[in-house]
Amino acid sequence: MNIYLPPPVSYYYPSNIIPAVILDILQYGHPILREECSPVIHINSDILSFLKDMQETLAQGGIGLAAPQVGRPIRLVTINIPLSDTSTTWLEVDEQPATPAQIMPLNFINPVLHPFGKKIPYREGCLSISKVYADVMRRSCVKATLTLMSGRTVTIKCNGLLARCLQHETDHLQGALFTDLLSPQDHGKVIRRLKLTHPAAFEEDDNSYARRMKEERRKAAQGAQTPPLVRKTA
Ligand code: ZN
Repeated sequence: MNIYLPPPVSYYYPSNIIPAVILDILQYGHPILREECSPVIHINSDILSFLKDMQETLAQGGIGLAAPQVGRPIRLVTINIPLSDTSTTWLEVDEQPATPAQIMPLNFINPVLHPFGKKIPYREGCLSISKVYADVMRRSCVKATLTLMSGRTVTIKCNGLLARCLQHETDHLQGALFTDLLSPQDHGKVIRRLKLTHPAAFEEDDNSYARRMKEERRKAAQGAQTPPLVRKTA
């Protein structure tokens, strides 16, 4: 998920630590964005190194990034809500009051979310749907059970931007995008915008449909006309 953020800060890496890599963010139309992601079973060095790259990628601008957005369909998310956010007025971690600053960056695996409260609109963007923003209705609060990278499982209850971001990022793990949640009034407008910003997604759809139809016609014609194959022998 993304909102406007100031330019990213630079990070210094001691020479004995391999610098994190900025990953390519998959864009709307990529099939991995529509996959149901697998649970993370082991928090090993591969996962931690990949998470470091995800955090570096998110630091370029954004408040949340899910692993499928950078090519791995696994249930791993990093969230970093800016400290300037004032909308998250209620936050509890394991029933204890907390502040966003205490838990950011919030890196976790295998979330289970229970959104609650009334549905409210908010203008959302997504790093995988660049240059497109739309009002999305979501529940105002969530109860989330998350496993942190320490292996500890916690229950977070919150509202505001953090609740919004938790819902947006967890949707990615189900292969869902914010464009799936548009009102009928906004849908056409956003699709027209998407055709301008992500034309390849629509070309691919058209091509794959055309290819499928051509293939079906070819098979039907073959089935009707092709004589049995006779193997030639020397
Ligand atoms: Zn997103």
